[in-house]
Amino acid sequence: MKFNTKTIHGGQHNIDPAYGSVMPPIYQTTTYSQTTPGGHKGFEYSRSGNPTRSALENALASIENGEFGLAFGSGLAAIDAVMKLFKPGDEIISTNDLYGGSYRLFTKIFEGLGLKFHFIGMDDASNIEEYINENTKLIWVETPTNPMMNIIDIVACSKIAKKHKVLLAVDNTFATPYLQQPLDLGADIVMHSATKYLGGHSDVVLGSLVVKDKDLADRLYFVQNASGAVCGPQDSFLVLRGIKTLHIRMQRHCENAEKVAKFLKSHPKVDKVYWPGFEDHPNHDIAKAQMKAFGGMISFTTSEKTLESAVKLLENLKVFTLAESLGGVESLAGHPSSMTHASIPKEEREKLGIIDSLIRLSVGIEDEEDLIEDLKQALG
Ligand SMILES: *Cc1c(COP(=O)(O)O)cnc(C)c1O
Repeated sequence: MKFNTKTIHGGQHNIDPAYGSVMPPIYQTTTYSQTTPGGHKGFEYSRSGNPTRSALENALASIENGEFGLAFGSGLAAIDAVMKLFKPGDEIISTNDLYGGSYRLFTKIFEGLGLKFHFIGMDDASNIEEYINENTKLIWVETPTNPMMNIIDIVACSKIAKKHKVLLAVDNTFATPYLQQPLDLGADIVMHSATKYLGGHSDVVLGSLVVKDKDLADRLYFVQNASGAVCGPQDSFLVLRGIKTLHIRMQRHCENAEKVAKFLKSHPKVDKVYWPGFEDHPNHDIAKAQMKAFGGMISFTTSEKTLESAVKLLENLKVFTLAESLGGVESLAGHPSSMTHASIPKEEREKLGIIDSLIRLSVGIEDEEDLIEDLKQALG
């Protein structure tokens, strides 16, 4: 099955043996009757498993070309489950330019429990090797990175991971499997905040993991059930519905973002534009090789380089909504240094380029003329 067909049918055969409903029923139940002790039809208790969640988990595994999917109450709950595979003294090498909430989870929770993190630039993947030692267990990659739109070479990372027998996990939230499939590029775990493009309509918080290896799936399933950060059936249903239009939404997100990025680059009141589709983007060639197109996310700085100029622009936008999050059908604008990335210390932020005049756009699927007109009036 090819990708577009998988978004609609992947993992969804025989979804409702009772009545043949085309969409899976929302099994709003905690428990399941048994004919004799242990005599059940595959489900016993909804933390351990729920048919609507299972339908979603199968769909996720299908679109990421994996074997096993696991769905959680949020993206961070999914990352939390990965970190619980490790024990004190274990070391993790992570992208330095990453989602603020991931950074907070790593440093404020798991460092306290004895895991050691190295946050490093991975624009050149060979940087990773010097941080590997006998305690290293995982390489954590986010690409494109948030909010600087750096691109990390997943194939190069996976070669290093395999050579040293450590796991490679990729946060694929920004790209989605429509643009890049990390398991095919050698990753062991692919993670999503399905809150973003997979859900796609800004109406549900949910996270997921997909793997190929049975043993790894079993270990993650143990954590999912033992720690219990699962998603409910209603939310599972919403993400399943979202996935069915992922391919057409992503195509339009990418087309609109390209036009918006080019408009911004030519505007005198804009300084830098970060978008991996530009030929002068430092890792444009890697983006071209590992992604189908360049995504719907763009960051840029104002030419005045002040906090005030960015704030004024954000306040003047009318079609773009000033809000956290990304990946929904509507265009959003955010201010990383005071919003999504406020949990990263100012010095750390500025080293990465997250200065006060940086604005991040999640380009939606409205008419591109309206988006450009809106930015034009706000910049003017
Ligand atoms: C939003 C986001 C997360 C966290 O997901 P939640 O669903 O908000 O918990 C992780 N990684 C990236 C790249 C994100 O954008």
